[in-house]
Amino acid sequence: MRFDILTIFPGFFESVFAQGIVRRAQTEGLLEIGLHDLRAFTHDRHRTVDDRPFGGGEGMLLKPEPLAEALVSLGVAPRAHGEQAPANLRRPNEKVILLSAQGRVFTQAVARELARLDRVVLLCGRYEGVDERINELYCDMELSIGDYVLSGGELAAAVVVDATMRMIPGVLGNEASGEFESFGASDGEIDVDVEGVPRSQHGAGGLLDYPQYTRPAEFGGLNVPQVLLNGDHAAIRRWRREQQLKKTLKNRPDLLERASLSAAERAVLFSLRNAVGANGASED
Ligand code: SAM
Repeated sequence: MRFDILTIFPGFFESVFAQGIVRRAQTEGLLEIGLHDLRAFTHDRHRTVDDRPFGGGEGMLLKPEPLAEALVSLGVAPRAHGEQAPANLRRPNEKVILLSAQGRVFTQAVARELARLDRVVLLCGRYEGVDERINELYCDMELSIGDYVLSGGELAAAVVVDATMRMIPGVLGNEASGEFESFGASDGEIDVDVEGVPRSQHGAGGLLDYPQYTRPAEFGGLNVPQVLLNGDHAAIRRWRREQQLKKTLKNRPDLLERASLSAAERAVLFSLRNAVGANGASED
């Protein structure tokens, strides 16, 4: 899979993409990243990439011509426009994405969708944003990494690349491990044993991951939960599933509405909710 990133700060990405899994994915040929300096597509002495917004208002905008020229240099055709239904000349297995606080929220599900593509072109805004005609003519999607405003799209682009490349088959050591993290595959997609507990150690099933512990068994006066030490794998799976429900209820109750839960899990959730109700707004 290839990412092409258009930015006025290509140097921003150098260390981000030179570490850990993202570096390994590149050296193993599973991932290519092209960085493109927008200023290389300007033609004036000052290499100007911004201009004032029509109608007034704060700040500057990235002007359309350098972005359009950069996109054409990457083989991205503009969408036809006018009275007729727009015909997108884009190759089917690629998408052009504008990073924007006004975009659809980037989630693990979006990362999974993007990882099926051959190429994603990411446009990093700066200043007060990008001339909207670039969005209309070239972009398939606007993506936001969350409900806050960053000073540029570069951090957001790095987040999209990182989360997406983890979903490319072969990038993670264990082929399936992306499914077993927070927001991972639903249990329906994971083998379930006779007791209705996911056969995997931690199929996330759209929930948050469970807490994990390593040595030492006692730290800061806290012991590792006993159930993890006794080798009873069914009990461990049940405990982990309950912890997932508990953590999701505490930190992201919105995820529970979409999670596919068994009757037994709903019962656990019911008693967890009652316990929270009985203890008031307990933090535990
Ligand atoms: N005026 C814009 C608004 O209110 O939506 C904010 C512009 S922001 C200062 C500059 C650039 O940062 C944006 O064009 C976009 O590329 C990027 N950006 C800011 N917040 C973002 C977010 N939550 N997700 C993705 N990109 C973001």
